[in-house]
Amino acid sequence: MASIADGNLPCPTKAHGRLPSTVAIGYTRSSEHALDNSIIQGDMSMEILLKEAKSILTPQRNGFLAAKPYPFTHSLSAYVGCGFGQTTCGLYCYAQFLPNWHFSGFTADWGHAVQVKTNAAQLLAKALSTMKPQARQKLRIFMSSTTDPYQPLERQHQITRQCLEVFADYSDLDLLIIQTRSPLAARDFSLMEKIPYACLSVSIETDDQTYLKRLKGGPPLEKRWELVRDARACGIQAQITVSPCLPYTGIEEFGQRLLQSGAHRLIVDSLTAGDGVGGERTARSPFAKAEPGWRDTSHAQRLYNYLREQASGTKISIGWSIAGFCGIGTSSCN
Ligand code: SF4
Repeated sequence: MASIADGNLPCPTKAHGRLPSTVAIGYTRSSEHALDNSIIQGDMSMEILLKEAKSILTPQRNGFLAAKPYPFTHSLSAYVGCGFGQTTCGLYCYAQFLPNWHFSGFTADWGHAVQVKTNAAQLLAKALSTMKPQARQKLRIFMSSTTDPYQPLERQHQITRQCLEVFADYSDLDLLIIQTRSPLAARDFSLMEKIPYACLSVSIETDDQTYLKRLKGGPPLEKRWELVRDARACGIQAQITVSPCLPYTGIEEFGQRLLQSGAHRLIVDSLTAGDGVGGERTARSPFAKAEPGWRDTSHAQRLYNYLREQASGTKISIGWSIAGFCGIGTSSCN
């Protein structure tokens, strides 16, 4: 029987053709149409600002993404703010503490306002086309560290899709990580297939759907496992980030599911190791109030140790926190 890791299963998603660019600049307030009701619990209100950005590739000179051994050169965020902020991950999301959100001009709470960078793809196309090939070949881009490229608004605005269409015109970049927790990413598999340096990185912080639901929900875990499996079936490189590792059903259950997911790489992170300041941001976050025992992250370390032991002798690489995120060598999640 062919294994999923062999990439022999039929690719389930095919989409074709370029989509028109969004050019309108304006301000709109929306409710249920802005978000996908099936994955969001609670208040559905959302402010949406359509705005042209001045630049799209943000150089990484220090901080999380600039760490060794394989630092990212740039991040790319097609949105400011994130609709998933209304779900469980919004409770601990460190992006709500960063300057680009604070200075965005929104007065709404994190998760309730998003700026759409309507000209992101045009800026990207210009940046890549005017760059010398030697410089372009060194690009290692993380999309995205402060928003989810496939948050619910992407279904309508398709800014991430437009950016992938631009990347698909270039075969010579070093790495593009597409970091998401959204099953919507499957819509763009046909584009990711055309980008040899693309790696789909899917957040699966726990295998316990009941736990997520008890907090503020989020994209269904089964859909996320499916996303990884289907990406591999399409021949797309994939990794899973257990970031941050939340309480799980059992180490064998979660660990084995991760190992058998088809992902090339598994990264485990904790709330103290991964928020950039030893847990200080998490301590100020709504998650600390919702889960008073959050400082005990021993379950994350146990999972990492288990995966390391079990993956020994396989082709699956296991990473921890920052070194794991920045542990991808040239052009490959392998
Ligand atoms: S999806 Fe990512 S960026 Fe968006 S709220 Fe959740 S953790 Fe933050």
